[in-house]
Amino acid sequence: MKRLLADEAETLAFGGRLFDALIPGCVVFLHGDLGAGKTTLVRGALRAGGYTGAVKSPTYTLVEEYRIGEATFFHFDLYRLADPEELEWMGIRDFFRPDAICFVEWPERGAGLLPVADLDLSLLVHGTSRQLSALASTPCGEAVLRAMMDA
Ligand code: ADP
Ligand code: MG
Repeated sequence: MKRLLADEAETLAFGGRLFDALIPGCVVFLHGDLGAGKTTLVRGALRAGGYTGAVKSPTYTLVEEYRIGEATFFHFDLYRLADPEELEWMGIRDFFRPDAICFVEWPERGAGLLPVADLDLSLLVHGTSRQLSALASTPCGEAVLRAMMDA
């Protein structure tokens, strides 16, 4: 699936549609350069869930946890990960629980230590807008994409 997101509002709105379609246990990888809009998309998702606090890239803490109703979200940003072993020390596997939804920015930096993504979202700077491509790799990812397309 590909979508042109004309401005920040459209990225936030796409995040909102993603939120509505997400299933507990889903792992979403976010690809794209710095400033491509990965965090904006996650912010759109969490806002759609009713979260009103700040949603910033957890660049230094690597992960931020959000509770929305019964649901738990983990938002990772592995940009500053110096050594993949850091992920072992933080007990990375415990975050990818069947009841949690995980967003991961810069998943390439955690290669070998992360589970496979259900959904890969890539953002590409395209003039003043962004080109989004979505790829589902599991039945869970396919269900999410299907729900988004039907919405
Ligand atoms: P990343 O997490 O990928 O480094 P951010 O989400 O922090 O990127 O920043 C993205 C920047 O691009 C923000 O300034 C945001 O306003 C802007 N932006 C987000 N989506 C779009 C879009 N569809 N078109 C144009 N600008 C966008
Ligand atoms: Mg970011």
